[in-house]
Amino acid sequence: MKIHVLPQEVFNKIAAGEVVDRPYSVVKELVENAIDAGATAVSVETEGGGKTLIRVTDNGGGIGKDDLVSAYLPHATSKLQSAEDLFGVTTLGFRGEAIASIASVSKMKIVSRTEGGDAFSLSCLGGKIGEIVPAAGAQGTEVTVEELFFNTPARLKFLKSDAQEEGDVANMMARFILSRPEISFTYTANGKIKYRSYGDGLSSAIANVYGADILDQLFEIDADKHGIKVHGFIGNQNFSKPNRTYQSLFVNGRYVVNQTVSAALTNAYASYLMKRQYPFYVLFLDVPPEIVDVNVTPNKSDVRFADNQIIYGSVYSVVSAVLDGNSRALEYLAGSAPAPASKPVQEAIVFEKSSEPPKVLPSMTYEEAKKELEFDVPPIAGKVNLPRRTLDLTAALEVHAPTAGEEKHEDAFEENKKLLLEQEKAKQQRVDVRSLRFKGELFRTYLFYESGDDAYIVDQHAAHERLIYDKLRAKLESRAIVSQPMLVPFVLTLNGPEFAFICKQFPLLEEIGFEVGEFGGNSIKVSAVPSDLMNIDLTAFFGEIVATMESLRAIKLADLLKDKLASAACKAAVKGGEFLTEEEAAALLERMDGDMGLKCPHGRPVAVHIKKSEMEKLFKRIV
Ligand code: ADP
Ligand code: MG
Repeated sequence: MKIHVLPQEVFNKIAAGEVVDRPYSVVKELVENAIDAGATAVSVETEGGGKTLIRVTDNGGGIGKDDLVSAYLPHATSKLQSAEDLFGVTTLGFRGEAIASIASVSKMKIVSRTEGGDAFSLSCLGGKIGEIVPAAGAQGTEVTVEELFFNTPARLKFLKSDAQEEGDVANMMARFILSRPEISFTYTANGKIKYRSYGDGLSSAIANVYGADILDQLFEIDADKHGIKVHGFIGNQNFSKPNRTYQSLFVNGRYVVNQTVSAALTNAYASYLMKRQYPFYVLFLDVPPEIVDVNVTPNKSDVRFADNQIIYGSVYSVVSAVLDGNSRALEYLAGSAPAPASKPVQEAIVFEKSSEPPKVLPSMTYEEAKKELEFDVPPIAGKVNLPRRTLDLTAALEVHAPTAGEEKHEDAFEENKKLLLEQEKAKQQRVDVRSLRFKGELFRTYLFYESGDDAYIVDQHAAHERLIYDKLRAKLESRAIVSQPMLVPFVLTLNGPEFAFICKQFPLLEEIGFEVGEFGGNSIKVSAVPSDLMNIDLTAFFGEIVATMESLRAIKLADLLKDKLASAACKAAVKGGEFLTEEEAAALLERMDGDMGLKCPHGRPVAVHIKKSEMEKLFKRIV
């Protein structure tokens, strides 16, 4: 298809934003172009973390000689014709901005050959387009980007170390491998092959990225709920990860981080995973393009759904059906122990496609939608990167009467809401300590307390551990820092995002008494540890730091590291089989301040609550 410059009224409706600020974002844009061009094989090379060189080669449709110049022009695309097309975008790109922006801040060259045509090459130096010259090359396109940001020193300065930039590129490549299991990708950094996938399916792609062993821990999903196809692999009930970097969601082939879907997954796993444990998933959502708006700020990997409830309901029901269906044995073993908050009854059948035709999703005709969306864009003065209005599909599609089929889904959603409320209530479990009466101890582990019609069983080890932890944490405020060099440095290899995260913590780690540094690839080296933590398990310790990636924004970093130091020290301090006297038990409870929702530093509950009525049910006094 021909590349053409979008009329102003069209590109005004496209959500704008910086598309290239780092090597990995250049790689993202170029690989997306290769995918859009129908490539079945894509190879990516970088040097110097992508700062020196990025080259993306594909075997897709190519760019015709007449289109080469247009490819470099801002707002030039072959993927969008008019504003209406924004309602049904099926390609990854549609803004026509990437090539132009990359070309303006680098030395770029495109060599391309269409089917049956000849190969031509066109270079562009810092935005100055050169001459088209005949070239040699197979069908497809090879884009070379050298010396990124050579003409914008300020931006160059903001780049991270080569290793960190390379790590981010590698992570992006892993994402592509997962998102397009039918395409074979090769990623080479500084001459070394980092990833190679074979385009032979999702399980193979997952094995490629995470290692084949992981497949034993995953469930495959393939469900079709009301026109929304949910497929991929999700971790089993006992498989958790310390942070969210092991979660990939692709909506219509596009990598997306989305609140609605993420909430649905979190809630589906809620009764299986503890705090700071995150499910693993590589999940694909294929929805009719009309019900998803991809026109959001480009650097925000998100989409907007016409109806979040339907999306939530579909994902939640499919995933919880898989998890709960496979956990029946587990529940049986648990007997009549207080069951986790009940889940909505789902009629979901997974692992096979629904035989009935997909129900019609709430949508409007294009004409209706257009009426809803008509608005005037203020004339843009001079610059084009003023804030632009975007098509708000969500708002437009909400104003229609629900159909019968949809009502049913609202019910499902109500159920989900109820479940969430119950969970919220369970969190508020503080009781008045004075009302608790000590009723004895069992197995040298469990302390029994009664308060009116409620019984509480406290795991004394978990509680003790928690208290030591709190004490140590307080003590660490005033500790003297002495570093102890290690005889053999400790080396830890992480994944891309984890590595980038740890690197950011170096100054704080050093403040606390560690000597740490990068060690090539995604590895770090620890050459000295604080002397009071000489014997801690460093793998576990750094694992815990990585686990805090998720909650960082809310907590001060220095506190967090103290927290981690304390919890690591705590592990060494607490030994099994300790016995508490009655006074100690009382003191313990006092210190717990009646917080029956307390968790030990590793996330296990400190107390369990049983109602009298639940006991009565156990003994069939009531039903
Ligand atoms: P967009 O992808 O949003 O259309 P880009 O600036 O990324 O904008 O690319 C501009 C145009 O150049 C694309 O619309 C496409 O026609 C063409 N193009 C870019 N890369 C390739 C490629 N690898 N193969 C074929 N065509 C390409
Ligand atoms: Mg593009």
